[in-house]
Amino acid sequence: MRLTDNRYASEKQQFELALRMIHHEARTRTIKACTGLSDDRIRKVYATYFRDSGLDEVRRRRGKSPQQINLFVKSPKHQLEATTLIALYCASLLLRVDRANKVHTCWPRPDVEYGHRVCRAFETYVLLHAKPALSFEWAWNLLQNISRNDELYLAVCSVCRGRYVQDSYALDRRTCPSCEISNATH
Ligand SMILES: [Zn+2]
Repeated sequence: MRLTDNRYASEKQQFELALRMIHHEARTRTIKACTGLSDDRIRKVYATYFRDSGLDEVRRRRGKSPQQINLFVKSPKHQLEATTLIALYCASLLLRVDRANKVHTCWPRPDVEYGHRVCRAFETYVLLHAKPALSFEWAWNLLQNISRNDELYLAVCSVCRGRYVQDSYALDRRTCPSCEISNATH
């Protein structure tokens, strides 16, 4: 009996996460990675979501997540928002930054708890910005990308010593987006 209860509880968590991610317009592939649900079950969750919510503006997204990194460093505003997400990922214990500013993932692979933590971090990010520049899939891409310490890294500002997301192949002026924005407005 107990085994059945546990299985029911775990399926319920998978479905709850799938609904939460659909609400954020996550791609099927991303939902699958976290929930472990099959394409067919995810399709059913979509159907339930549309039936129960009465919404039709949530689009079903297929294919791969956006892979480019240019959006994160396009402007100081984008850079600041990407940096906010990294801080939220660290607070959610999804990432850890060591003393040399290298980023480490704290999770061996995505699962239900990981998915919920990404959703919570993304929801907080959305609350903090009037017009968020990054969608859920971009936030997901950022999380995967920064932990590879390859195209993106955490640079340190020479003015305030704050860390910020920077493109590894761009010229770094050692000014964080916050200092850059406040310089521009003074
Ligand atoms: Zn600064």
